Amino acid sequence: AAQQQVNVHDGIEDTLRLFAFKLKYGIKVERCYDQALPEITAYGSELNQVWTNLIDNAIDAVNEKTANGDSPRIQIRTCQKGDRLRVELEDNGPGIPVELKNRILEPFFTTKPMGKGSGLGLDVVRRIVEIRHNGSLIIDSVPGKTCFVVSLPL
Ligand code: ADP
Ligand code: MG
Repeated sequence: AAQQQVNVHDGIEDTLRLFAFKLKYGIKVERCYDQALPEITAYGSELNQVWTNLIDNAIDAVNEKTANGDSPRIQIRTCQKGDRLRVELEDNGPGIPVELKNRILEPFFTTKPMGKGSGLGLDVVRRIVEIRHNGSLIIDSVPGKTCFVVSLPL
């Protein structure tokens, strides 16, 4: 499909609706949307694939985490920064171990049980963001928190 005018919030909300069933088990979704965010020219359905893969991982992450008091939470923030639009997806799952940080973008790399993860999700995310949209993907993780930042040119 060709590029189109895309409202990023609509794409994220459409994606969240598809996950309604998986999210209903006590996972809190917090939105912090910049309502002044402009639309961007982009491949809309491909961006929805980005939100899908990142939210899917965030759900797995918060479900994996063993109890230490916190309730499972996914936070989605948007903002405009100069000539870029930023979407930040943060979860309070276990975090990404330092020794794996360089490997998680590799195709077929997964820490999930056989049959559960293809290891392709983040490879696809990176390609759509960086190659298709000339954007960048930043991964910020510490124990107990992971944040994926998608930055797209306006
Ligand atoms: P898959 O989900 O099929 O394993 P991905 O490419 O989507 O493949 O992710 C690769 C790996 O990156 C995951 O198996 C997991 O180890 C790690 N990962 C991705 N997202 C998160 C996250 N939000 N929190 C912790 N680890 C993550
Ligand atoms: Mg995945």
